[in-house]
Amino acid sequence: MNPQRALRQYIEDWQRSGLDRLAVQIPEPVTPVQAAPPAAHVQPLQPPVAPPAAPTPTQTTPSQQPVAEPSVRRSPTPTGQKSDRSITERVASLQVLAGACAACTKCGELVSSRTQTVFGAGNPQASIMFVGEAPGADEDRLGQPFVGAAGQMLDKIIGACKLKREELYICNVLRCRPPGNRNPTTEEAGNCREFLDGQIDIVDPDYIVCWGGVAAQNLLGVVSPVGKLRGTMHQHGRAKVVCTYHPSYLLRNPAAKKQVWEDMKFLFADMGVEL
Ligand code: URA
Repeated sequence: MNPQRALRQYIEDWQRSGLDRLAVQIPEPVTPVQAAPPAAHVQPLQPPVAPPAAPTPTQTTPSQQPVAEPSVRRSPTPTGQKSDRSITERVASLQVLAGACAACTKCGELVSSRTQTVFGAGNPQASIMFVGEAPGADEDRLGQPFVGAAGQMLDKIIGACKLKREELYICNVLRCRPPGNRNPTTEEAGNCREFLDGQIDIVDPDYIVCWGGVAAQNLLGVVSPVGKLRGTMHQHGRAKVVCTYHPSYLLRNPAAKKQVWEDMKFLFADMGVEL
């Protein structure tokens, strides 16, 4: 499949997954294939004009003016140059990796119980990558990350940060649902690591947010609880890493929304944006 067609199919899959707006325009197929890569017309991420009213605000403010590059706010203290791969190359590489993921049979128990793999979704050139734990029942059914109750909580946080889902790239430590939503085993996380590493390499985010202890401990290779990892800027390769509580934890412990909001402010302050 040529890269333009792959990009179109990827974005259409993306739209089918429930996203109502795309930051990236779908290019018309061009001949020859080596023609200029599609422009990434994106919405600007506007610095908010007023602080949110509550620790966990739900309002979203659609951005007003389309701009070209960059799709994301840049850190005033970048930790290196983002790789200069085109969006077409990133989409094609992610598609290859997703194919390998769908064919993966390393974790016997997960393979026998999964409906499908949940590879990841979002902007292939996102500045911010979200890493969660593993798909739940809704994600397993729909093939998309964070589309159940935890996903709705995550959407509120994304909106409060004046972001859109399609500006982010979202994936998990595991790409198959653990039965009963149990925690991933160390072996399962190790088996799935090639896909997480591949996604990080291809998207090459400036920032990674680890949602919950499983994501933080696996990505960073540490054993500290997430409560201890919060509030410090960690590093993974080129990406700065912020750790915070999992959205599912917030559903059980709403009081922790305050800490998550602090963590979002910490992340955005590093990007030079006051939430
Ligand atoms: N919880 C996660 O960690 N990831 C998902 O995709 C959904 C729920």
